[in-house]
Amino acid sequence: MWWHAQAPQTTAESDQSPRTRNARAAERGGRARPGHSPARRTQQLRRWRLWQRSAAVLLLSCALAPHGVRSHQCRHGKVEGRFHESYNGQGGVYTASRVEYGEERRRLQRSAQSSAVYEPLRIHVVTDPVEEFLRDEPAILKYLKLDVIPAALNWVQLALRVKRAEGPLSLQPQCGRLWMVQGDSPPSNPSDIKCVALSPNGTMCGDVPIPEEHLSPISMCPDSVYSCTRRYEGGGVPDADYILYVTANFDEACQSESVGSTVGYAGHCRRDQHDRPIAGQLNLCPRELLAVNTNATNDTAASGPTISLASDQMPPTRLLRPERRVLQGGGRSVGEGGMAHLGADWRMDVSFVVHETLHALGFSESDIAWFRDVDGQPLTHRDEQGRPPFDASAGPQGGWLPSAALVDTSNATGRVVKRVTTPRVVTEAQKHFGCESMTGLALEDQGDFGTRFGHWESRLLQSEGMTGSRDGQEHAAFSSMTLAFFEDSGWYLPDYSWAGDLTWGHRSFTRDGCSFVAETCLNQAEGGGPPTPIDPNHFCVGEGGQEQKLHCTQDLRAVALCPLAQYESPLPLWARHFEDDDTRGGPSQMTNFCPIWMPFERLAPNGRPLNATSLCTDPSNDVAEYNYFGEVYGEDSRCMASSLLEDGYVFDDSRPPSGRCYRRECVTAEGDDPHADYDAVIVHLQGGQQVRCGVSDGGKWKTVEGMNGQLRCPHVAQVCFGSPCENGGVWRDRRCVCPPGYIGKRCSHEDRSGNRRIIPSYFHYTPDDVTIKVGSSYRFEARVQGIVRNYTSISALPEGLTLDTDTGTIEGTPKETTDGCLVLTIAAGGVNEEARGLLRLSIVDGHEVVAMQAQTIGVRMPCGTYL
Ligand SMILES: [Zn+2]
Repeated sequence: MWWHAQAPQTTAESDQSPRTRNARAAERGGRARPGHSPARRTQQLRRWRLWQRSAAVLLLSCALAPHGVRSHQCRHGKVEGRFHESYNGQGGVYTASRVEYGEERRRLQRSAQSSAVYEPLRIHVVTDPVEEFLRDEPAILKYLKLDVIPAALNWVQLALRVKRAEGPLSLQPQCGRLWMVQGDSPPSNPSDIKCVALSPNGTMCGDVPIPEEHLSPISMCPDSVYSCTRRYEGGGVPDADYILYVTANFDEACQSESVGSTVGYAGHCRRDQHDRPIAGQLNLCPRELLAVNTNATNDTAASGPTISLASDQMPPTRLLRPERRVLQGGGRSVGEGGMAHLGADWRMDVSFVVHETLHALGFSESDIAWFRDVDGQPLTHRDEQGRPPFDASAGPQGGWLPSAALVDTSNATGRVVKRVTTPRVVTEAQKHFGCESMTGLALEDQGDFGTRFGHWESRLLQSEGMTGSRDGQEHAAFSSMTLAFFEDSGWYLPDYSWAGDLTWGHRSFTRDGCSFVAETCLNQAEGGGPPTPIDPNHFCVGEGGQEQKLHCTQDLRAVALCPLAQYESPLPLWARHFEDDDTRGGPSQMTNFCPIWMPFERLAPNGRPLNATSLCTDPSNDVAEYNYFGEVYGEDSRCMASSLLEDGYVFDDSRPPSGRCYRRECVTAEGDDPHADYDAVIVHLQGGQQVRCGVSDGGKWKTVEGMNGQLRCPHVAQVCFGSPCENGGVWRDRRCVCPPGYIGKRCSHEDRSGNRRIIPSYFHYTPDDVTIKVGSSYRFEARVQGIVRNYTSISALPEGLTLDTDTGTIEGTPKETTDGCLVLTIAAGGVNEEARGLLRLSIVDGHEVVAMQAQTIGVRMPCGTYL
């Protein structure tokens, strides 16, 4: 598994299964809490009357509930779950808006009559616990607090938008003892609680005691219901939509045995009245924290077996660990022992924090049960207490069970497969795979309870940031499918312009998207021959045979081997990809034991490490003494099939072509919008030779002057994927969309505190996605980090609007309507760098806009999809 168990979320509601709660209610002779039932208000009114006229007020002196007022029973025993949700306004005491979410969203889709504004999510990070832990490690603390966490949240906060909280965000204090009318249930509205004494354990979010200043007001009535004082008045966190507590606790989740190493985990502890998570904990396992930067260089000491290539002049190679951080359980050939640490890999560290934060914001199967539709109505049936069904068998702590309309469960292949079928997820998945008949996107079905069903299926979305593992893939992309998950929750409106794009399973990289989605990985040959990959870019069948010994990884960023593992016992039926050997399979259980192309570490002939890997994109991998092939390493290099060999050298065998690294230059026809659509790729060799491959040349062999052998032209759409952006960035809307952790015109700089102060980044407008009308005046202000010297417009502005080149402000009175959505790209230029931001406008006639509210400058309506 990649990083962490997501256990807290599944443990979250452990003591809240309907059965136990009802049982408790019965024990104390109480009624179930009314929750979201329509009768709630009536009941509250009635209760007030009761309170007012009843002299028989009972003090529940035994109401010691360590984790929340909702429990109200004697329970001194251990608290099983670390996270305890509160719902239905009981815990999330904040008002998202005076208007219901759904109402706004529905209107937004119907017509342009809404003033609903979704704005970038504001996450308030509390690092006090981790600061305390890292008191003596200032360098690690700085790395985490100033570099990694802000870099991750910079992306998350712009990619996800919410209707912002009104006023400070505060969390309901946990009342240990409270006044109740005999026979009545506890107040469902937190402001109705009359508290005798706060919980002696404090108010917790997971393992974290919530600071007093984050608590919301409560009536403290120590002596009688008639003499109360308000406490925590004026508390709360201003300008926040979510509070994330970062901790460094060592607990059982940090020492999971089934995985090599758990770096951390996250979960949420409170929801608002619409069930959106509003507070959570991100725990960084201390073992990992203390290893930061101390072990960063020697962790690549290989753990894999040595693969010796017989009769091969190439140095013998050793499998590179598939993924530094990830150590898969299951396979013996790779991934046992060894581990990486925070600090060893910037990209992984930032991706890790993004990944965990997204869990904390609601990414899990259990959260789907809480999703709401555009009208704000729950999509899964709720009980009288407002809760979805609880499945006690879903992991050690159980989990919430989404409606079958949201998650389709099947068992046809001998294992449970669950697919998310919510509308936007399906649409984005269809686009990614290029398969219109797709009806759902599968969740991971392997791994332990923290991983299973809490991530996208690794076989389908290998390099997606929300899969549970990432064997062999250098780049994680947080894609539109993950953002779609959040949109379908009803709590967020993502900005898809920040979505990454991944090569794995992408329609440009598969022969047939629908069969890629439907089949597993290998097709069995009729008559018992060796199997063949359903898609040779993605899957492989092992070394030798007629296959190339060295191939390319699916994303073409590295030369690859096809490692197979031999297991001690037969694989499950659904994982038997080799008919002649039921113990043979790919190294990762997460990818259903499918054999996939993987990068490796290169060794000298005597077995000495060369400190070089097979990654084409890393310039340090060019080991000159073994470069007979004209190879070029660097960020712009990609793997291509080649039998090229320098003049004067010959192979003493008839070897098949191999994957080799050459620099690729992607070009467009003269006059076209650069990068819009590449017409050709020019392949550059070490000796200065160039080979031009057009779109129709993909797969054709070409000779090269001064070299023996041939080069096979790559497919332009594949080899130019993302160009000219670096580090996994993708070119869209005339700019590089950088993955979390990278900034700059081409995403070539790490988003660390030092760079962030200087290089323009995260440039966006507020608002930036609106429908406006002809003849009215508008003003859009630029928001950007770093130092900007001037602003320029890459796109032609609509008539009537002008750009202030000093401030970036776009203002004026539009004179003409647009044909649908117009995406304007603006550049914020700094010192040798720039950031590009978007303003998406739809300009309509005045009569198309009926009711404009005075304080809103535009009517918010998505201009369309951006992918
Ligand atoms: Zn996860």
